Amino acid sequence: MRRLVILSTIFCFAIQILSAQNKMPIIGVSASWGDSDTRVPKAYTESVMMAGGVAVVLPITLDKKIIEQQIAAIDALVLTGGSDLDPMLYGEEPIPALGVVYPDRDEYDMALIKAAVESGKPILGICRGLQGLNIFFGGTLYQDIPSTYGKSYLKHNQERDGKYGIHSIHIKDGSILKGVIGSDSIVVNSRHHQAINRLAIGFKVSAYAPDGIIEVIESVDKPIIAVQFHPEEMASKGNEQMLNIFKYLITLIK
Ligand code: MN
Repeated sequence: MRRLVILSTIFCFAIQILSAQNKMPIIGVSASWGDSDTRVPKAYTESVMMAGGVAVVLPITLDKKIIEQQIAAIDALVLTGGSDLDPMLYGEEPIPALGVVYPDRDEYDMALIKAAVESGKPILGICRGLQGLNIFFGGTLYQDIPSTYGKSYLKHNQERDGKYGIHSIHIKDGSILKGVIGSDSIVVNSRHHQAINRLAIGFKVSAYAPDGIIEVIESVDKPIIAVQFHPEEMASKGNEQMLNIFKYLITLIK
């Protein structure tokens, strides 16, 4: 009898180890919405799965309890791209060139960031996701690069397919990004007309576009990295350097 108990204990322990080894990381991908649907471009979910994660779509809700449970259910968060953020979030009045703003999505994204930060879950911010993180941590945006950032001479709002790069970025020595990408510069796609103006406290710039626009930021003390371009559109088409950004997010999971 005693031997049976010991054997079954060993067996249960072995199963636990095996299931822990087999557990794949769950990566929440924040959604946008239309009139009748919850939306995530599949390039995000494809990239997460190609990187070894299990992608789950997080629908917009304003219920804080549900948001907390969404974050509790995932191992890491991808904040996706989308429409402009409300400049009122960083204390500015809207300028004429501001694009469409969806206040509910802004509120959701901010609550999602808060819940993820409070529980120490890693975050990858993409495009609007980078901008939302910068606002959450106290930074500001250029509401429209062409009309408010006088030094810009680059086309940041590309019309060609996102699987093609359009402008280069220069990656700083010593940045996490440099290790992830493995080179000093890379050509990225670019589909944004807003950008970081004042960088949030607690972050450092890891890559700039040649015109000085901030393209990648890293938190100095939290598992957060954010990019202004769309790595998912290149990663899901087989770009290994871009896929490494998603793999890096997974390495941040404790
Ligand atoms: Mn750009």
